[in-house]
Amino acid sequence: MKIGIVGLGLIGGSLAIDLRSQGHQIFGISRKEITCKIALERKIVDLASTNSNILNETEIVFVCTPIKAIAPTIEQIIPHLHSQTIITDVGSVKQPVVETCSQLWANFVGGHPMAGTAESGIEAAQSNLFVDASYVFTPDKNTSPEAVERLKAIALSLNAVPYICDAKIHDRAVSWISHLPVMVSTSLITSCLSDEPEILQLAKQLASSGFRDTSRVGGGNPELGIMMAKYNRAELLRSLVKYRQSLDKVITLIEAENWDNLEQILQTNQQARPKFLN
Ligand code: NAP
Repeated sequence: MKIGIVGLGLIGGSLAIDLRSQGHQIFGISRKEITCKIALERKIVDLASTNSNILNETEIVFVCTPIKAIAPTIEQIIPHLHSQTIITDVGSVKQPVVETCSQLWANFVGGHPMAGTAESGIEAAQSNLFVDASYVFTPDKNTSPEAVERLKAIALSLNAVPYICDAKIHDRAVSWISHLPVMVSTSLITSCLSDEPEILQLAKQLASSGFRDTSRVGGGNPELGIMMAKYNRAELLRSLVKYRQSLDKVITLIEAENWDNLEQILQTNQQARPKFLN
């Protein structure tokens, strides 16, 4: 199959590598000649260009740009596409993307492969990134079932696990497991930094695996945090408010020395946590 990938970064490049290794012909689009050159040198794509006209025979196009660029990118490529071409994106937030892009292209299907690394750009592209990862598709009532089936088959061919759900439900669930943790974790680091220099100095020396785990997502790429807050604002605020209530409850229990109720919460969560991670 002829497949287009627009945005040859971590996700776009990694999709290109795996799909090309299956025998598909990959047409890559970047804004920069240098990215095209690297993509060709590394044999990530069959053809690379800064001009979208190379997409004219593609059956499926993956738009793998940052979220803010997804809709403008689709507007830019559609004059070059066959009317039956399926366009899908890989953005980590779905409702605003699906709302806009399904108006731009009838055969659009929202998608989110839930895999990544801390790196970005073409240099970070790697094979087998999507193995065992969830790959969510968010069709709406107008989406072609055939397009969804074709994308599910591609997800399965990457050894990912396809899920179908509503875009709003996706954004709410992802807020709990991905976007809220970033804000909680970054607030943890902010709070630590507010203590006196002497304490802070010792805390830095003593910090170990517990701090590494709990601060990891909050100490990552600021651009990603901003993207989550901006595009999933309503769901993130909803989960943050609930989180604040849970934190207030814990504070109240500790103030009241209510160890029984605190233990109950800790026990419930000890049992609940593995169900998120299996
Ligand atoms: P990335 O490595 O930075 O790749 C994005 C690529 O898009 C860049 O290499 C860049 O390529 C191109 N690009 C950047 N700004 C652009 C713009 N304004 N207009 C057009 N193209 C632009 O980022 P990524 O991690 O692959 O993320 C891409 C998408 O995947 C995002 O929508 C993100 O939400 C989603 N996603 C990310 C992860 C993750 O963990 N990283 C996981 C799942 C989904 P050129 O400069 O060569 O044009």
